[in-house]
Amino acid sequence: MKELEEKILKEGHALSENILKVDSFINHQVDPVLMQQIGDAFAGHFGNKGITKVVTIESSGIAPALMTAISLNVPMIILKKQPSKVLNDNLLQTVVTSFTKGTSYELTLSHQFIEENDNVLIIDDFLANGEAASGAIRLLSEAGASIAGVGILIEKSFQPGRDKLIAQGVDVYSLARVSRLAKGVIEFIPEEC
Ligand code: 5GP
Repeated sequence: MKELEEKILKEGHALSENILKVDSFINHQVDPVLMQQIGDAFAGHFGNKGITKVVTIESSGIAPALMTAISLNVPMIILKKQPSKVLNDNLLQTVVTSFTKGTSYELTLSHQFIEENDNVLIIDDFLANGEAASGAIRLLSEAGASIAGVGILIEKSFQPGRDKLIAQGVDVYSLARVSRLAKGVIEFIPEEC
């Protein structure tokens, strides 16, 4: 997606060969116009797949997932990373290793929000090792839902996440595919590839 790639080149910072900082438009400050374009792009790609719900992982996936859900006219569900005192009934949980923090957390879904006939689109900000998306797929599959696909804003294509999801038979659609990061360098796989 041209607009996202341009924004990444203008405002993104490669912190190392592995980490891209996008705090000024995705992870801390959010660019609402870009989020709307992103939501429309995901809806354009997945629109004919009979999606009944959009699911994301707190917190940076929420903005693009919400815009996608508006565009598809379906509800959005947030998978929780933090334990909660009010969330204790009929929970599905799975352990996920955080790429950026190197720690583990328990991804949690309240069963009441997913039904067996749901066809779910998972949206997240980054795809690195595929841990977060795989955890979401485990929870949703346990709840009996089908996975319509995974929509990613920024895929780091030199890391194994995409191949891991494809191997599970998942339709992965990434709006920006980063082929290389280095100090001051951000390169993309051309869109037609
Ligand atoms: P994965 O689970 O695929 O290994 O990593 C994806 C998750 O880690 C995303 O939800 C995102 O929050 C975080 N993440 C992975 N790589 C990056 C990165 O380069 N920059 C930022 N800001 N977050 C990342």
